Amino acid sequence: MLPAYLSHADCLKHEMGAQHPESPERLGAVSDQLLMRGLLDYMHAFDPPLATQDQLARAHSADYLQQFADTGANVPEDGYVQIDPDTRINAYSYRAALRAAGAAVMAADLVATGKAPVAFCNIRPPGHHAERAAAGGFCFFNNVAVAILHALDTYGLERVALVDFDVHHGNGSEDILAGDQRVLMCSSFESGIYPFCGDVPKAANMVNTGLPSRSGGKAFREAVSQHWIPALDAFRPQLLFISAGFDGHREDDMGNLGLTEADFEWVTRELVGVANRHAKGRIVSCLEGGYELSPLGRSAAAHVKVLIGAD
Ligand SMILES: [Zn+2]
Repeated sequence: MLPAYLSHADCLKHEMGAQHPESPERLGAVSDQLLMRGLLDYMHAFDPPLATQDQLARAHSADYLQQFADTGANVPEDGYVQIDPDTRINAYSYRAALRAAGAAVMAADLVATGKAPVAFCNIRPPGHHAERAAAGGFCFFNNVAVAILHALDTYGLERVALVDFDVHHGNGSEDILAGDQRVLMCSSFESGIYPFCGDVPKAANMVNTGLPSRSGGKAFREAVSQHWIPALDAFRPQLLFISAGFDGHREDDMGNLGLTEADFEWVTRELVGVANRHAKGRIVSCLEGGYELSPLGRSAAAHVKVLIGAD
């Protein structure tokens, strides 16, 4: 039984212009590093399906789903439709978003049913800024929230945790999951940057650890050790999801937290420990941000190496 790797060519066809940092090349930067380090040899690659409307409807409003489907179906072949100042779609974006969410759902199925011990989804568009009724911040469907709600409903789980270490707060995941007592969400982020929220949690099931600009790895690790790990151990999740964003890396201009591969490796090891203590080791990790291609690939490889136990 090998760790699962989920990605799809549909995720490469969505693009928002040549200069946009959320580029199709991001997925190749990750897979190249996994391949080069031999990590894909230890993983079983799956071909994920498109998410269904029923799956998406657990996380998103009917109006939003209809609106995005209509907009997505009417983009000219060689043009774009602007969604917010940073986010736009091409003719292939809707299908890419369905595929990314479908991959997260399949990963949850594989891990929840014991067909894979852990899973990593190398997917885009990312999801954690997508709210119940709004796209934003390069995100359309909240892949990880769709997968979490699917796992809770399908497998009768009582407690599922989401950990988000992207440099930006997972406001979309918080919007969808706040107040759901079956879920504990821990989110670290750089305070004062997009999406300009998170310092005040929306509900008691949110552990938000905002960090000042230029905090560095030591402060990040202290926050995780002091706030996340005790909360996760008290909650005892039966399944652990990770919103794996690597834009907190010091070489990535999207943020200024100053993290390194070693920090992503360290936090992954801590989370594997949580999963081993409470969740039979079961983890589903989904790519979120990370825009400078070289540190993105190196950081994702450091994360996956520990996730699949190849360290
Ligand atoms: Zn981000």
